[in-house]
Amino acid sequence: MTDPVDPDRPGPVTGTGPALPADAADAAKRAAALRGEIERHAYRYYALDAPEISDAAYDALVRELEGIETRWPELVTPDSPTQRVGTAPSQAFAPARHAQRMYSLDNAMSLEELDEWFARLGPDVLERGCAFVTELKIDGSALALTYEHGRLTRAATRGDGVTGEEITANVRTVRSVPLRLRDQARSGDSDRSAWPSIEVRGEVYMSKPSFERLNAEQEEAGQPSFANPRNAAAGAVRQKDPKVTAARDLSTFIYQVADPRSLGLRSQSEALAWLRAAGFRVNPDIEVCDTRERARAFCEAAIERRHNLPYEIDGVVVKVDSFAVQDELGFTAKAPRWAIAFKFPPEERTTVLRDISVQVGRTGALTPLASFDPVLVAGSTIARATLHNADEVARKDVRVGDTIIVRKAGDVIPEVVGPVVGLRPEDAAAWKMPAVCPSCHSPVWRPPEEVVARCTNVACPAQRWERLIHWAGRGALDIEGLGYEIVGRLIDSGAVCDVADFYTLTADSLAALETGRARKDGSAVTLGPVVATKIAANIDASRERPLARVLYGLGIRHVGSSVAAALAGAFVSIERLEAAGEEEIAAVEGVGPKIAASVTAFLANPDNIAVIRRLRSLGVRMSDEGRGGPRRPQTLAGLTFVLTGSLEGRSREDAGNALRELGAKVSGSVSAKTSFVVAGEEPGSKLARARELGVRVLDEAALEGVLSTGEPPGSET
Ligand code: NAD
Repeated sequence: MTDPVDPDRPGPVTGTGPALPADAADAAKRAAALRGEIERHAYRYYALDAPEISDAAYDALVRELEGIETRWPELVTPDSPTQRVGTAPSQAFAPARHAQRMYSLDNAMSLEELDEWFARLGPDVLERGCAFVTELKIDGSALALTYEHGRLTRAATRGDGVTGEEITANVRTVRSVPLRLRDQARSGDSDRSAWPSIEVRGEVYMSKPSFERLNAEQEEAGQPSFANPRNAAAGAVRQKDPKVTAARDLSTFIYQVADPRSLGLRSQSEALAWLRAAGFRVNPDIEVCDTRERARAFCEAAIERRHNLPYEIDGVVVKVDSFAVQDELGFTAKAPRWAIAFKFPPEERTTVLRDISVQVGRTGALTPLASFDPVLVAGSTIARATLHNADEVARKDVRVGDTIIVRKAGDVIPEVVGPVVGLRPEDAAAWKMPAVCPSCHSPVWRPPEEVVARCTNVACPAQRWERLIHWAGRGALDIEGLGYEIVGRLIDSGAVCDVADFYTLTADSLAALETGRARKDGSAVTLGPVVATKIAANIDASRERPLARVLYGLGIRHVGSSVAAALAGAFVSIERLEAAGEEEIAAVEGVGPKIAASVTAFLANPDNIAVIRRLRSLGVRMSDEGRGGPRRPQTLAGLTFVLTGSLEGRSREDAGNALRELGAKVSGSVSAKTSFVVAGEEPGSKLARARELGVRVLDEAALEGVLSTGEPPGSET
């Protein structure tokens, strides 16, 4: 078990990924490296259908290049990936030249960028009461279909936008593609020979259930699985044998007529209606929005809705409805000015790894910690992430100076996904765990079959520091004011050695604590009476915390807050726990032999017992006996709760503890076994997952109702 590392320890928390290069020479070098790397990934994605990195990470590289090209426009080259669409068509297919170019779309990575796009349309357009059409951005592969005299004659991929790949035989096997257009599409004109040549465009995609089925089949046949439905669909239409395509269960949504004027159509909404009448599958989730506010609201709502759709979308496309206005706005080298792809908040970003430091945990475990340029991921800025252990650093092969991909695991915990190897500086050296503890310089030891290296010195000040911080932390004794800085000072001054020493502190002794800063005249700045009185009161209040928090705070190996609650529920006071045998402890539900052995070993250590005695003599309660009567009835036994988002009235830890006191299990992830998800403000993906699985969701008021009455939620919530 690795000790918890707090990635939110003080540090810089602003910025958005790799900083711009210092000068034009550096910029040229970085731009060239980015171009090479982006091209390599584009080739893997478009030509081989085998991406190595996520779309969000790819987009982040493109964004960085765009940022450099905006600052140093002289670096823009005509073949830069920022100026081009897709990649050259593969030689394996006959070339299919598009009658009209197939463009890409510009992206808005946030609602703010969407507003900037609206502003770029100009007052002229906006004041004319311009309407917008909002369409889901289907994450499939772009498709162009040509109909001569109403019959399908050619299907092509987008390729580089000018020339695509001819894939007609394959696309004929996709059932939603009409081989003949319906007559209604040409009002009253049933003489098909008079119909003009019509090209329509859309997306061929694979639904989520079909994708899962396909990957299960691949696995069974010992074949490699596909990275995502988009690549599976793109690969399926680019097969040599149409029978393979036919077996892949593809579908289409068509959203564009290439030359709508030839059909007398005046707007995108008219074009969509025409497509529907012609027999194409058109996505039903389309809205014509009179105002930009409505278009914006559609985009915002799609962030949540996407999880409930049976196919993948990677954003919303907002288009100016009127073709006359579209004509006025025109195109850039790569994309129309009259449309924008609003992309969902990126779950992965790139940044630069600046340092790998080593943290010493409470049990002496040494944990490598990555520090990187601050970057905004899934709604908050992160600058640090644990790398867990030396094996993990070696497996990921991340090196200081690397451009790295970061994300938030489970939407919460910062995680380094891996390096972008193509952007590695020449002098970046592989990282090694230091041979001595960075805090006390004692030798580091890694037991042969363990992944965790440890400082061998039990008196290591860093270990002590972490143990003390853990005691004062949120899920434990919750003593506000005792953070890293003050606890560090208390250790340095000799006032605190172990957790019992906290209870010897007074407002006066705290007030005199030197903060390490000096006044102009050289005299030391002290904590002062105001802060000191508050901290002393918080320490005093912590004497009454329930036993579960004390047990958790003691930092016994393998005793997390759930186990601590189970032990407190079973033994009620620390004396009874001390008196219990290992077997009795192991028999407690949710405990088991491994944890029982760890608890018994802890309580057999005379140093630990001495600390417990001192805590008791200094007034720390360590017993739930007589606390508000008997233990609360276990009315929530058998129910599992998951908490997500921030609650107004209490911390999530606190809510979790309160639920546990009523017998509930509190879990960190949503599954079919979850009974309820409690969603506070800004809930993460857990809420979406709950909706997907049909798990009931409670708001904060409902949670408070449960906690005060002790009754499980009623069926009406
Ligand atoms: P794009 O996918 O961002 O946008 C343009 C495309 O959106 C169109 O060509 C069309 O096919 C599609 N689309 C879907 N629904 C639409 C609708 N309703 N109206 C209009 N268009 C619609 O741009 P792109 O140039 O095709 O490719 C970039 C995408 O590919 C990005 O998402 C990028 O992350 C991904 N990519 C990933 C990698 C990788 O290595 N992971 C490499 C290259 C590209």
